[in-house]
Amino acid sequence: MPVSLLIALFLAFGTDAILPPSPVPRGSVVPRLIEAMAEVGLVGLTALAFATLVRARVRRRGRATSGARRLFAAGSRTVGALTLGGYAWIIHGLGWPEVVRSGLGLRDAILLDEVLILLPFVLAQVAGWWGLYPGERALLARPPAGVARYLALRARQTLGMVLPAALIFSLAQDLARRWFPSTSEDPGFQMGMMAAMGALVMVLAPAFVRLSWPTRRLPDGPLRDRLERLSARFGFRHTDILVWETEGAIVNAGVTGALPWYRYVLLTDALIDGLDPHEIAAVFGHEVGHIRHRHLAFFGFFFVGSMGILTLASDLVYAHVLGGPGGPAGSTGSTVAQGATTLLLGVGYFAAIFGVLSRRFERQADVFGCRAVSCGRVDCPPHPDLYSRPDTPAVDGPLCPVGIRMFVNALENVAALNGMEPTARSWRHGSIARRVEFLEGLEGKPQAERRFQVGVSRLRIGLALGLIAGLFLAFWTGAIEHLGP
Ligand SMILES: [Zn+2]
Ligand SMILES: [Zn+2]
Repeated sequence: MPVSLLIALFLAFGTDAILPPSPVPRGSVVPRLIEAMAEVGLVGLTALAFATLVRARVRRRGRATSGARRLFAAGSRTVGALTLGGYAWIIHGLGWPEVVRSGLGLRDAILLDEVLILLPFVLAQVAGWWGLYPGERALLARPPAGVARYLALRARQTLGMVLPAALIFSLAQDLARRWFPSTSEDPGFQMGMMAAMGALVMVLAPAFVRLSWPTRRLPDGPLRDRLERLSARFGFRHTDILVWETEGAIVNAGVTGALPWYRYVLLTDALIDGLDPHEIAAVFGHEVGHIRHRHLAFFGFFFVGSMGILTLASDLVYAHVLGGPGGPAGSTGSTVAQGATTLLLGVGYFAAIFGVLSRRFERQADVFGCRAVSCGRVDCPPHPDLYSRPDTPAVDGPLCPVGIRMFVNALENVAALNGMEPTARSWRHGSIARRVEFLEGLEGKPQAERRFQVGVSRLRIGLALGLIAGLFLAFWTGAIEHLGP
């Protein structure tokens, strides 16, 4: 999931209510346009500078060294930060939304205004990818296709999932304002609508995936039979298994769709080429694990439920730490201060709590991946090939050493083929090295796995109770009033 696009959407549209707009005269449209394009150019040039350094280093050493990879990772992060930071400045420093709405006179346009408001971010992202491309090419064992196709691929991947969802949300907001003008500002109504839209997006997500990524049905054959047998063993229902075509550039897999009757599992072409059938089954098992443990649904609940905690926390911090009045009515200055407080708390909250939750869930899916290829004997080998014949035995038992090894091999191969450092940190997944270390620590210790599962269940229950209590309190104290416009 492209997190930076989510942040950009929040910057562009989530702060509308908090920061009062000041109209932009037509005459200052062109200078501001030039400034916005200068920021886009800066992103592209920074990316190109990093890519040039990376390429020079690879040439000097004759191979992709870990130093070069680290430099590239640092460059990607810098470009990402510059893209988002620059976009924040374009939105709030240049007043970009008002440039579009009052400067270009598009306030009442349907969706066109939203698209133009988001455009600088999209352009900055493309400029960043374009600049980094030579560096990425130098690092990869199998360089990606030509730059234009590469950019199109990246753009489809990044925008395709989130943009249709954002359009549904913004259309729903427009229609709600038109049809229920009196109740559409009510926080309860807003929350209910967000929950309904969130559910709709989750149900439609598989359609967005097919729209935005080139995919084809995994052809009939031994691999498909193997994965279908695995699915049958766990009662995992899906609409289809798809090959996600990346021209060999990305080694990845995913599952989309919270509902059993509309759900795809996706495996990239490079994953199918680069991993052996046992490892592919292990990765497939990881995706089944996300569904079996209902991770998608819990994330949806988490996002909507967090609104209560956030509004409460922002009221408390604003009233007690910053010494502000904390009441619903306030001057423009206090509205801005409270808005900024909410924003900072929101970023900190998601960075911390969502990060922890996501890494726990990834681990839980990893464990499920191991289970999917485990034979149930703590002392294997010999380890039977579970899915080679139609009559897959129903083995339920502890993780087995060979099963864990197959999953770990799959993880390490995915990292190596993607040119990722095993120790590279990942906010959402955790580093490959830590994931491997954890799984290897479970070998021969069924009680350690049980403890882990109990820990995740406790985290979920605790979080759910906290979120529900937060929502209840936020409505009860009226803090939720500060959520809507
Ligand atoms: Zn996962
Ligand atoms: Zn085994």
